[in-house]
Parts: sequence; structure tokens; C-alpha cells
Amino acid sequence: MNKPFILVVEDDSPVRNLITTTLKTNDYRYLTASSGETAILEAASHNPDIILLDLGLPDMDGVQVIKQIRSWSNLPIIVISARSEDWDKIEALDAGADDYLTKPFSVEELLARLRVTQRRLSFMTADMLAASSIFINGKLQVDYAGGCAYLDGQELHLTPIEYKLLCLLCRHVGKVLTHTFLTQNIWGRCWENDVASLRVFMATLRKKLESKPDSPQYIQTHIGVGYRMMRIE
Ligand code: CA
Repeated sequence: MNKPFILVVEDDSPVRNLITTTLKTNDYRYLTASSGETAILEAASHNPDIILLDLGLPDMDGVQVIKQIRSWSNLPIIVISARSEDWDKIEALDAGADDYLTKPFSVEELLARLRVTQRRLSFMTADMLAASSIFINGKLQVDYAGGCAYLDGQELHLTPIEYKLLCLLCRHVGKVLTHTFLTQNIWGRCWENDVASLRVFMATLRKKLESKPDSPQYIQTHIGVGYRMMRIE
């Protein structure tokens, strides 16, 4: 597969150097920006495949950069946050970021996130070309038109909410979906009780979907943030 072209947005030069060195050693092509304004300009003029975006930029908040880019593009954005508070990640994910890395991160972590995003990119293209109403991931198959899901050819007996939850995760495969996003889409609101209900429905869905609910293969938990459907090779 062709290595994607990456826009690295980071004002802190040691971190930026670590990222670009890693990219260079792994044959990625890249471009850098050290402010929000430059990032938006570079994203618009160079059409990168993936953006690595630091949230704390000198001229504007990274979340503003995401909002601006999302007004015209769906390209994957991986947020880099020095702040370990979940709130920043949640705000960035709700604004349209796809994934996040928390500083300090290792070279392996960075490369792993890029691989997940690349896999998502290649499947996004394939899904668009196929324009299919059937979603297939590993042994899971969701027939959106028929309103049913199968695991290893056997129909899954899901409640309407479990099915809705599964569809949301599948339609955004590879992307971390926040609690707010999920409850807004299921119940049209996000109250404290809704997040608790979401956990309950997630547990029952997992029991039906995962062969080992304690070490899930399909749905990954991001504690305090949300959930993600993993792409299975
Ligand atoms: Ca910074």
C-alpha cells in the first residue's frame, strides 16, 4: 500500500522533530506546520491523507482547526494532546477528530495510530467504491437495508438499541466515538443516566458479539471517552 502523505501540526520543535524523524525512517512523506493558520492553509493547498494535530497551538485552539477543516474535508485527523484531561480529547473528537495520542507518546504508539488510520482510509475508499448496504468486518456482517446483523453466518438477536449502537460503531469503523456522540444519536440527548445506560447496552451487545467479552476483539473501550469498532483484517 502507498504510504500516506502526512501533515504534522506541532509548534513544539523537539516533538515535531521526533515525529518527522519517525515518519522519515518509516518512508512516510510529510509536511509540517507550527501554527493553526498555516495548518489550515497547508491542508487546503496540499491535500494530505492524514493530519497529526497538536491541540495547543500558539495562534488558536486545535479544536478550531478541526472545525475549520471539517467544514470542507473528511480527511482523518489524529489529535496530539499534552493535556491528559479527557475533556480535551472528547471536545476534539466531537469536533470531528478521528483518534488521539497523549503526550508523551512512544514512536511505536505513533506508528500504531497511523496504521489504524491508514487501514481505515483504505477501507473507506473500498466502501465508497462498493457503495454497499452490507458491512463486513471479520466474522461480523451487518445488513443495513435488511436491519439485521450476523456473526459467523448466525443471526444476532439484538434489541433495537443494541442494533442501533452496533450500526453507529460500524458506520464509523476505526473512529473513536464519544459517549456524547453515541447517546445523542441513540436518545437525542446526553444526560448522566444516558452514559450509564450506554454502558449497560454496550455490555449486552458485547456478550452477543464478542467470543471473549473480557478481551473484546471488535469494540474497543476508551475509558472516560467512548468506544471504537476495530477493523479486523
Ligand atoms: Ca503545543
